[in-house]
Amino acid sequence: MPHDDERHIGGRRLHPASLMMSYGYKPELSEGAIKSPIFQTSTFVFRTAEEGKAFFEVAYGLREKGPTEEMGLIYSRLNNPDLEILQDRLTLWDDAEAAAVFESGMAAIATTLLTFVRPGTVVLHSGPLYGGTDHLLEAVLPEFGVQHLGCAAGSPRADMDAALEKALATGRVAAIFIETPANPTNSLVDIRACSDLADRAAEVQGGERPPVIVDNTFLGPVFQHPLHHGADLVIYSATKFLGGHSDVIAGACLGSRKLMDQVTALRTFLGTMSGPWTGWLLMRSLETLQLRMTKQMQSAKHVADFLNAHPAVREVHYLGNLTHGSDAWRVYARQCLAPGSIISFDVDGGEPEAFRFLNALRLVKLAVSLGGTESLAEHPATMTHSDIPPERQAELGILPSMVRLSVGVEDPGDLVADLGQALAKAVPR
Ligand SMILES: *Cc1c(COP(=O)(O)O)cnc(C)c1O
Repeated sequence: MPHDDERHIGGRRLHPASLMMSYGYKPELSEGAIKSPIFQTSTFVFRTAEEGKAFFEVAYGLREKGPTEEMGLIYSRLNNPDLEILQDRLTLWDDAEAAAVFESGMAAIATTLLTFVRPGTVVLHSGPLYGGTDHLLEAVLPEFGVQHLGCAAGSPRADMDAALEKALATGRVAAIFIETPANPTNSLVDIRACSDLADRAAEVQGGERPPVIVDNTFLGPVFQHPLHHGADLVIYSATKFLGGHSDVIAGACLGSRKLMDQVTALRTFLGTMSGPWTGWLLMRSLETLQLRMTKQMQSAKHVADFLNAHPAVREVHYLGNLTHGSDAWRVYARQCLAPGSIISFDVDGGEPEAFRFLNALRLVKLAVSLGGTESLAEHPATMTHSDIPPERQAELGILPSMVRLSVGVEDPGDLVADLGQALAKAVPR
């Protein structure tokens, strides 16, 4: 753990953006290299057998770490400098005590859920969820005796309370897992209300409080900090904004040291940690995280305004366009710092019009995934959310006319020009 004074100048707490180039890295340990080398090594040499014994005692929890003792480097499934420096840097954005990085967002989600669920327990969750998460809850965990119960994002508080009571009647609630904003509709889940639900579950369950786990991929870590609003753990698909260049698959989980010690222990035994090269790529990406996310968000506002005014667009789902004073707006005002850069919108028509639009795009590429430097568009109903049956898609607002757009760092005027020409081809007038 780096010394606290690395984070302050004359009592001033430095912004995370200022620390992404240096925090947690000591050049004197790496021949003075300004950047952390890639520690492409499976194992680490112990100076003595006694040192090896001491490192293992700490790593396997056989004794408490001394006050100034750092966990020694043992083997790259347990720890590696590229992962440790990256994890320290990630904690700064979310004000977390500890972090763990994984080789994918799904590895982070699966490892974290498996840390807390047991046969006979229930996961209460929001909906819609990322397709992989949905499949894990729907098809994989039930094979291990773990049930799940969903409540739609944006539901009134009474429906959330009712969902919790139903979950409590099914078994011990072992985790509350939410995704906010939800993919692809941008519907919001009130994190504070979920924390209240966890308190209520603890009362009923003799003190066993389920952790509130927030998938913060869409807005975080720059524009939403769930740990400040009552969440216990934050999860990322680092493939998206954290990586930011559509060239790496990775994930992360952050929270209190107490919970993260449990998650990290299971990561060691499932072997879901990321490799040093992935860690190095993410460190490079973090240096421009705030720059990229801010520029993408500003361009997205411009694009959303253009779409809102366009006659071939029926409805725009963007956090920057919530109706003042609505329930969603109140949740937004409390827990989000900016509307981000993911926009969904319905073209005037159905699947044929949406497909004509997607096929006509030139600068914006037709691909799933999001949060990268290039703008991407896709069709949720037949692509990312195609395993949700049509009736449930309709309930969740995922219509055949919907297109999801991830706004990149291109010139916003050029993006609008491309969207405009594609809309003209999609819905001729
Ligand atoms: C992409 C994504 C995931 C899965 O992450 P991978 O890195 O692809 O494993 C999880 N949650 C959300 C919200 C995502 O967008």
